[in-house]
Amino acid sequence: MKEPTIERVEARAFRIPTDQPEADGTFRWDATTMVVVQLKSEGVTGLGYTYADTSAACLTKDKLADLIIGRNPCDIPACWDAMLGSLRNLGEAGIGMLAVSAIDVALWDLKARLLDLPLVDLIGNFRDRVPIYGSGGFTTYSIPQLQQQLAGWVTEGIPRVKMKTGSDPGQDAERVRYAREAIGSSAELFVDANGAYGRKQALHLANTFAEQGVTWFEEPVVHHDRQGLRQLRDRAPCGMEIAAGEYGFTTGYFQQMLHDGCVDVLQADASRCGITGFLKAAVLCEAYHLPLSSHCAPALHVHPCCSAEPVRHLEYFHDHARIEQMLFEGVPEPVGGNLLPDRSRRGMGLGLREEESRRYEL
Ligand SMILES: [Mg+2]
Repeated sequence: MKEPTIERVEARAFRIPTDQPEADGTFRWDATTMVVVQLKSEGVTGLGYTYADTSAACLTKDKLADLIIGRNPCDIPACWDAMLGSLRNLGEAGIGMLAVSAIDVALWDLKARLLDLPLVDLIGNFRDRVPIYGSGGFTTYSIPQLQQQLAGWVTEGIPRVKMKTGSDPGQDAERVRYAREAIGSSAELFVDANGAYGRKQALHLANTFAEQGVTWFEEPVVHHDRQGLRQLRDRAPCGMEIAAGEYGFTTGYFQQMLHDGCVDVLQADASRCGITGFLKAAVLCEAYHLPLSSHCAPALHVHPCCSAEPVRHLEYFHDHARIEQMLFEGVPEPVGGNLLPDRSRRGMGLGLREEESRRYEL
């Protein structure tokens, strides 16, 4: 039988304005750029994407495409190895890995489609649905906006929500108190500082947040400060977990975070480390007996999260959930606080809405 080969690689960038100005503890934005990669083989299209910069689309077209054209799309490890090897002089992180990740996701999608399977059945099914948490609560929101968004998710049946802190540390205790007031006592409340605090400040706020029943403190200090994360993990109040890992591009990064005891829950983002890297992070979590939570890009993580045993939940990030609904068809919607893969569709089940997406194309 003739082997399938990758015949064409397309990469396109789309810039989608936010519905309102958004900020977290260390960053502000009013638009998000998505890079979509489409791989063609035997009349079948595999789709992958990442949240990046147009330069990731350029790198895909100018450098990475030639490395995989002509290869068998089922040979994902060989494609991965060739692409990573080509990044040696560019650095195995940042834009290069964002581009590799979008291609890797498209390869998984293409392979599943060529085999006429939903992606979760290609990787192997562990659970039929993945619990989610609502994520937003930007520091640009007024208190009523914050309360409305978080309480809205809880009312929809999502029993855990996350808000941003760190833009104005003097106000954070009050914002968290208002958030708790809005969601009631039984919903889980998470906070994400995006590395905005110093070590002592983070420890002080960990105690303050714990009084409002906060059970998850994400990136209390900058993620490079592994010793600081470890100290927070050791000293934060009982019942509060420390989470980080969203900037992980390589398997070595995840291993270091786990080895150094930086987190109670590791986060990984397949739009930054590929589905290949995400599944490797899951294996590392198994080895360290710690749970994994996916970061952002909800539609991209549904299938791998249903396959990877250590996954606890998936981040249903407001900005990306909105963009994915706008640009793709086949995006799963929350059901009772979970996302379910649509197993009647092949691959990840997503298709680019050509007409709608064109108005955002760069
Ligand atoms: Mg975060």
